[in-house]
Amino acid sequence: MIIILQPDIDRKGDEVSTLLNYLETKPAITPRFHQIKGEDRTVSEIYLLGQTTELDEDEIEQFSGVERVVRVSKPYAVLGRHRGDIRSSGFTYNGVTFNQDNFHLFAGLCAIDTPAHVEEMMKHLKDYDQVCTRMGAYKPRTNPYSFQGLEADCLPWVFELAGKYGLRVIAMEVTHGSHVSEILEALEATGHPTGVILQIGTRNTQNFELLKEVGRQQQLPVMIKRGFGITLDESLNAAEYLASEGNHKVIFCLRGMKTHMGDPHRNFVDFAHVPVVKRLTLMPVGIDPSHSVGTREQAADGLLDIMHTTAQGIIAGANMALVDFHPQPQKALVDGPQALRLEELPLFLEDIAIVRQAYESRKKIGEKMRNL
Ligand code: PEP
Ligand code: MN
Repeated sequence: MIIILQPDIDRKGDEVSTLLNYLETKPAITPRFHQIKGEDRTVSEIYLLGQTTELDEDEIEQFSGVERVVRVSKPYAVLGRHRGDIRSSGFTYNGVTFNQDNFHLFAGLCAIDTPAHVEEMMKHLKDYDQVCTRMGAYKPRTNPYSFQGLEADCLPWVFELAGKYGLRVIAMEVTHGSHVSEILEALEATGHPTGVILQIGTRNTQNFELLKEVGRQQQLPVMIKRGFGITLDESLNAAEYLASEGNHKVIFCLRGMKTHMGDPHRNFVDFAHVPVVKRLTLMPVGIDPSHSVGTREQAADGLLDIMHTTAQGIIAGANMALVDFHPQPQKALVDGPQALRLEELPLFLEDIAIVRQAYESRKKIGEKMRNL
């Protein structure tokens, strides 16, 4: 059960303590207070864990300071979208808002390699008004002898370059709790020139201890990939692990499923699930067409398969896209064959703008459907 409190309520005030005293009289209930500081208002909620079936929501709604009581109708208590839910989706991080209504492109290097490549990439992003990017420092590889990423050593210069080119958010995969500390230390040491969204890769979607550790820190938001061989429900439960530990700033990213049914693509594209995840949860939903498709193969109409796949996700309402680019794909140390070239960025952005516009028009049809 979720008790949504009046906006800007004082956590230490009489209204909250009267309510908490009442809840304490209820057996087998653990209240967890949660506050989200937004740009213009602070939202406070109390999550009730345990035997909530006996609780009377009407009685709780009578308490002064309570805006609404929502009964949890899905296993994803915090991130799920429940019946009668009035909580809004998303969050603002380092000046950039992520929610189920807007869209951000995270174009960038699959793996950080040289300062020259990183700088060229970032300069190009700035030239096209982009404020987000993807940059991998810790790479989980199938083969233990493959390049594993430059790890902590590259973080200071990557963050400084990001600051130089006005990039506000870098999506960066972590595979171990120590990576989170290394990122936080490097951000601190460089004076926070940029921000980082921690990425949980598909191979770690059900690494529960990693999820708990990443969820316990609340400084950096998290983008969790769908597990490539598990059900959607299992992946959404994995996302809920992050929130259950306190970090509600979570983006869910589809990236294709591992099966040969997707051949000749690297994975079977699952972007039909974009609206499904938006219906089941409050999370902004991302797509990763690069790791879904896995090649820069060109369709008969001249558009790359990755562009077609991106369009499929965006026309269905995706809120972010994670796309591999490289100034010299043939020299990339990881996933060069699926990287787009820098000169392809403006056409890619043009294509994205067309489908995003189409989605906005489709939403108006949705409004009419709702009112039929
Ligand atoms: C990546 O985004 O670099 C990556 C490894 O993705 P995934 O975890 O989806 O394979
Ligand atoms: Mn990759």
